[in-house]
Amino acid sequence: MFDKILIANRGEIAVRVIRAAREMGIQTVAVYSEADRDALHSQLADEAVCIGPAKPADSYLNMQNIISAAVLTQSKAIHPGFGFLSENSVFASMCEECGIKFIGPSAETIDLLGNKIHAKELMRKSGVPVVPGTRAEADPISAKAEAAKIGYPVMLKAAAGGGGRGIRIARSEDEIGALAEAVKKEGELFFGDGSFYVEKYIENPRHIEVQVLGDEYGNIIHLGERNCSIQRRHQKMLEETPCLTPKLRAKLGDVAVSAAKAANYKNAGTVEFLMDKNDDFYFMEMNTRIQVEHPITEMVTGIDLVKRQILIANGEKNLSQKDVKLSGHAIECRINAESPEKNFAPSCGEITFLLLPSGGMGLRVDSAIYQGLRITPHYDSMLAKVVAHGETREDAIMKMRRALYEFVIEGVETNIDYQMRILGSDEFLSGKYDTGFLGRMG
Ligand code: ADP
Ligand code: ADP
Ligand code: MG
Repeated sequence: MFDKILIANRGEIAVRVIRAAREMGIQTVAVYSEADRDALHSQLADEAVCIGPAKPADSYLNMQNIISAAVLTQSKAIHPGFGFLSENSVFASMCEECGIKFIGPSAETIDLLGNKIHAKELMRKSGVPVVPGTRAEADPISAKAEAAKIGYPVMLKAAAGGGGRGIRIARSEDEIGALAEAVKKEGELFFGDGSFYVEKYIENPRHIEVQVLGDEYGNIIHLGERNCSIQRRHQKMLEETPCLTPKLRAKLGDVAVSAAKAANYKNAGTVEFLMDKNDDFYFMEMNTRIQVEHPITEMVTGIDLVKRQILIANGEKNLSQKDVKLSGHAIECRINAESPEKNFAPSCGEITFLLLPSGGMGLRVDSAIYQGLRITPHYDSMLAKVVAHGETREDAIMKMRRALYEFVIEGVETNIDYQMRILGSDEFLSGKYDTGFLGRMG
């Protein structure tokens, strides 16, 4: 087993990985930017190396500095977390070239799936249902032709997009020109790639994704689904599992496993689908990393996904499908430093008082905050993930409500009250909601 791993990330996911490693008896190395000297991940790891100034491009995206830190500390593997370099194939190959194991799929798989046009084409050829649309890079002329064929509204999507960026809905032909330009610009700005494609806009869909786990020998299993339809600006805010009948789960799970097989998938990954009113589903994209909402799958399966990632990277064989048994219901609320009253503008400042609700049966808080920590504008606004696990959906909802009731943060504004509104709304309580839910709730 690796005796030491480096975590190329910050915030709660860095802490999450450090915890898993320590429980496995593995030494950890944190990397941090100048703005994160006092961050929890820098303090919890066995060693910590400063990799540059606050700006992500200079530190958490600085491949040379991170690899140097790994070499200097004699780390045997790198866990990339999510965001930052987690879906960067150049970084994955650099690790391999330096004899450091990248904890994730191969650079080839990351490349293939990182471009959503190529990913969809691979899936289509492998018999996985995909959202109808252009099969190659589009331009305003081909976009109009495709939209005329599949019918408005359509989605224009950046091929390299992520985090809800580079997505626009076009409702008529005269909107295509300006929206294509906007998507192209956003793609270039955030992902260094302006290519885009056109896809049918699925009306009131659910975002249902499947967690998969593959080892280095081609054994791939799935760990059930997650409903991530509570979204604002195409970004998830609350997730829950399970949400399908056993029959539909088995069917979607099989499709997700064949999608992963088609990509020669290794390690933990997520196959994202859109599901319509008739429970017909379409492949949307595959995320080649651990996901923010992975804890809800851990709570219902009892399987530690981060430990599995490390074991698999170390050459261990996968679990078998029959080892995966679901128990109860789990919900995650993302708690962000933002102000719902001010159109969700990020909120910064020092956390002057903090009371985490991290107690009681079936309640988990994954976070990297503490009283006295300063929240800066440099990074993602997610402060904590509150995860509730109950015997039934109702139990899990009540547990989450009592947890959010207990949760006190002073010094920064958060979306805690907003999450409470979601948990109290009739549509959420009915369990029958789609991606339009937050738009309707306002
Ligand atoms: P998840 O499905 O795991 O919730 P998100 O889309 O919310 O994924 O992204 C997880 C984190 O990674 C967020 O902080 C998001 O901003 C970031 N992220 C996602 N995709 C990319 C990308 N292609 N480039 C940079 N950051 C990304
Ligand atoms: P990202 O890489 O940013 O996560 P996705 O392709 O996963 O982008 O899409 C993000 C969200 O946008 C989806 O969860 C869904 O809510 C919405 N979306 C994407 N494509 C479509 C579509 N064709 N029809 C309806 N909604 C869509
Ligand atoms: Mg997505």
